[in-house]
Amino acid sequence: MAKPLLRSLVPGDLGPLVKELGGEAYRSGQLAGWLHQHDALSWDELRNLPRSLREALAERFDLQGLSPLERQVSSDGTRKFLFSLRDGQTVESVIIPMESHATFCLSTQVGCAMACRFCATARGGLVRNLEAGEILEQITHLRRDLAENPVPGHGDRQFNAVFMGMGEPLDNWDALPTTLDTMLGDDGLGMSKRRVQVSTSGPGDGLRRLLALAPGVGLTLSLGGTTDEERKQLMPVPGRTPLAEVIDLGARYARQSGRRTTIAWVLIAGRTDLPEQARRLAKLAGSGPFKVNLIPLNALDDDAQEPPSQAAILAFQDILNRAGVDNTIRLSGGRDIAAACGQLRRRRLAG
Ligand code: SAH
Repeated sequence: MAKPLLRSLVPGDLGPLVKELGGEAYRSGQLAGWLHQHDALSWDELRNLPRSLREALAERFDLQGLSPLERQVSSDGTRKFLFSLRDGQTVESVIIPMESHATFCLSTQVGCAMACRFCATARGGLVRNLEAGEILEQITHLRRDLAENPVPGHGDRQFNAVFMGMGEPLDNWDALPTTLDTMLGDDGLGMSKRRVQVSTSGPGDGLRRLLALAPGVGLTLSLGGTTDEERKQLMPVPGRTPLAEVIDLGARYARQSGRRTTIAWVLIAGRTDLPEQARRLAKLAGSGPFKVNLIPLNALDDDAQEPPSQAAILAFQDILNRAGVDNTIRLSGGRDIAAACGQLRRRRLAG
């Protein structure tokens, strides 16, 4: 059995731990700094901590749970990473360079139970939840990569984080609350809530737990259909929460957080690009505090489904525009490096 990851502890737990190991109280702040500000991955890096404390920590915890397996850089600057975990499983993370900052796309599970037909991660089902430390350490590696290979014009170390990698964040309640705690806490990563976005295919009990947690971060609903029938076709997970309930919970969350909920709409030629779907989507989005993000399908190598033509994408968008629905078309980065959710891992599994 592997030791627990030190990064899985919330910063507030470091004080009692350091005390138990005989360290002075102020050492816990230094330790949190090494974990969440200085991106330490080996005990030797924790230079201002006494050797005795480092050794006591190393006896009980692992500092590194992810090892980089692959790194690919797309012609558009998107960087895609495959990491192996201590049990040999693999997860993906992505750095998407934006104009002024980077966006980190993080995974929350190995595999996923949500069964969306267009998603590579869904193919093998859910393998396991990631621990909080495994989610947070993705940030550690991505920040180290940015420090070594800075993006021209990106001055500071600010980044946005989106839970749009592998897995369903609202299906991993072992890790999501502590992960957000560490990301948002001043003694952790100290991120602004505005820089964090949770994306979900909308399990109702997960959305209700998120409402109860009230983290204030942004929410994206990956809708997949404008009727329950359409959603069943494209996202055939048993017990899918009814669409009306998902929309209601998404609206309630937006009112709670003070930020509009994004509806993510994957555009697939002949399946989700129909004018009547655009009209129904406009109606759903117009019914509450929503905006729409149109995502042309990132086609999987082993699948017949394709993204619509540019003209069809714009025609779909035009219907939303005419209905006054705020929307954007996501420029899908990294096509040439298989950056669609779960593709890198799948290629590797397939050998
Ligand atoms: N399970 C969560 C987060 C992971 S998926 C969710 O469903 O939101 C993140 C986003 O990628 C979702 O909006 C999903 O619809 C989209 N996505 C998945 N596979 C895709 C593909 N092949 N092409 C384009 N978008 C995809």
